[in-house]
Amino acid sequence: MSVLEPVSRETLPKREASPAAVARPVRIVTVANQKGGVGKTTSAVNLATGLALAGHRVLAIDLDPQGNASTGFGIPHHVGVPSVYDAIVAGRPLADVVCEAPESPNLRVVPATIDLAGAEVELVPLIAREARLRKALRTYLSEEGAETEVVLVDCPPSLGLLTVNAFVAATDVLIPIQCEYYALEGLGQLTRNVDLIRAHLNPTLRIGAILLTMYDARTRLAEQVAADVRGHFEDLVLDTVIPRSVRLSEAPSFGTSVLAYDAASRGAQAYLAAARELAVRWSMAA
Ligand code: ADP
Ligand code: MG
Repeated sequence: MSVLEPVSRETLPKREASPAAVARPVRIVTVANQKGGVGKTTSAVNLATGLALAGHRVLAIDLDPQGNASTGFGIPHHVGVPSVYDAIVAGRPLADVVCEAPESPNLRVVPATIDLAGAEVELVPLIAREARLRKALRTYLSEEGAETEVVLVDCPPSLGLLTVNAFVAATDVLIPIQCEYYALEGLGQLTRNVDLIRAHLNPTLRIGAILLTMYDARTRLAEQVAADVRGHFEDLVLDTVIPRSVRLSEAPSFGTSVLAYDAASRGAQAYLAAARELAVRWSMAA
């Protein structure tokens, strides 16, 4: 008997080869789950850093008004800092708001400030409001950011216009799932939204990977949740599982990824392994 809310097989994504992924070298990965506290930001920060340390040119975009990813990357994001808000609402070039990240010369970050909290409303009357991030990103990737190999977008915990912008801009969605009770709650809604975006706004969008987070090996519940998620989503789920690790929750208060904070910790090693796995899946491995 499953401890999880049942998810109908019809709504489950199928992993399929995307012709667009072959033709288009840049992976644009939206880290999304409308539940808060499931590890979106921790995953976006540490996967982006892991990929950058492995030699890939990475752009990370903080799309959450809380700015937690900006904090995690050690990028200032107080009021007045040029941010993703200026790019998607005011139409300023993304290149103007991209920052160099301290941890790696391969890593660039677009910070989010609290201004972004108004964007859900301010975007409504704008032309092509769902495609503002895509437009900004396309220009950047064809000019100053032409060397970028992978873009990671950290989403807010909602399915509002900011997350829609991230879906419209993306090639892949990466869903972190916390190994806790009700882990699959809301996933049907998330996958239906991805289906709607695919049908109307971004035909090649696909769910590229599912990452199990906050796995506590001491509990049978975590084991059962992981088994259930694998049962539902099969090989979409990365082999690497992120353990619950206090090092992961401490790192942001020092403005660094866990890879800089404690590279030997289990959390750091797990995110490095997950980054390697993604690079192989996405044919980015050297
Ligand atoms: P989200 O972005 O989905 O809201 P976060 O990545 O901010 O989630 O994680 C929520 C909280 O849990 C944060 O305080 C974070 O530091 C902590 N956390 C995330 N992943 C882990 C983990 N594997 N082990 C321990 N704490 C974690
Ligand atoms: Mg977050």
